[in-house]
Amino acid sequence: MRLFSRDAQRSAPRLTVPLLIVGVVGLFVGLVIDRAIRRLPLEKSMLFPWGEYCERCLQRKPIIASIPIIGLLFVGGRCPSCGISLSKRGILIQLLTAAGFMGIYYLHIGLGGRELPAINRTYWNYGSSRLVALFVYHCILYAFLLTATFTDLDYTLIPESITNWGLGVGLLLGTFWYVELRPVPIALVGGSPEFNYLAVHPGQWFDEDRWQVWFGGKAKDIPPLLEWIRTNFYFHWALNWTKYLGLLTGVVGALVGYCITRIVRDVCSLALDKEAMGLGDLWLMAMIGAFLGWQTAVIAFVLSWVSGAAIGLPVAILNRGQMIPFGPHIVLGSIAAVVWWRPLWKYFEPALIDARLFLILTAVLSVLLFITSLVVSQIKKMGNRLLNASQKPRS
Ligand SMILES: [Zn+2]
Repeated sequence: MRLFSRDAQRSAPRLTVPLLIVGVVGLFVGLVIDRAIRRLPLEKSMLFPWGEYCERCLQRKPIIASIPIIGLLFVGGRCPSCGISLSKRGILIQLLTAAGFMGIYYLHIGLGGRELPAINRTYWNYGSSRLVALFVYHCILYAFLLTATFTDLDYTLIPESITNWGLGVGLLLGTFWYVELRPVPIALVGGSPEFNYLAVHPGQWFDEDRWQVWFGGKAKDIPPLLEWIRTNFYFHWALNWTKYLGLLTGVVGALVGYCITRIVRDVCSLALDKEAMGLGDLWLMAMIGAFLGWQTAVIAFVLSWVSGAAIGLPVAILNRGQMIPFGPHIVLGSIAAVVWWRPLWKYFEPALIDARLFLILTAVLSVLLFITSLVVSQIKKMGNRLLNASQKPRS
């Protein structure tokens, strides 16, 4: 039996050298991520002080100790000044970054983007430069996600500095790079499998015919000032439409990511009588939506609940009710949504291909969730009252 296909075997030697280079770059990016995990939750600057200091004796660590993976060996794993053993967690972060970058490289360039999120293969014509752009784009998202995962595990906190920067970078790259960076470029207003853009192309809003109808029919002229604005915008749009669509896709993605998380969080908080998810989780989902578009964000969110049930619950039981934060589940969900896009999309397509249907489904489901939560909280209250009533006579 062959482990890989003939194609994969043939392309293996071509991939080895670039994969190694990507891995080494990942190790160095891992240094930055490790620094961010240690500094940002404490609201410390990433730049000042530039050097790293021992947590116990506050002496500056030698620069040689910061070399990825093997750096600690040079100082024997201990602080040269006070002898306290230094944390090896940074090595794990560096390895995770390198492995992630290599995985993303394989998914994008190794597999030629065949498995990447897209609805319409004929439109989605991956050029090699676009694949490299996508690879870098997804590496940047992965770096933000990895940082958020570990700050959430360490401090049950996802600093705003991470999600705000991530949101900004996602929107900016999506606007000025390629509109096609988003896995599924259907905007919220609608769209069809044949044409993956807005049902009403924003350029159409500035059509001469449309405006003439608004201003009283074909015979009447549009007022000169408005006509000047209309024609200018029309040309501006024709030259810049990819930027506007890119920005719009990102903004819609961020809104949907934020709103679905907000709905579920509020409803669950109501049912459980305590905060179900942190505010950081909302902005994390907004960031993911800005990077990946709204459909992938929805799939990522659903998968995060699967991960929460499959990993979070057993861990909570083993830790005697100590819940682990929800952020890492969101991160796992969004990674799975991109990696297993092809099989997943088969199941999600009916609900997500049409934005209007999705909105209706969300409304119906949130009403159902709300009713369920009310019923659950009422049953809980009744149960408590019965317990109190049965305990009173005894005391
Ligand atoms: Zn020390």
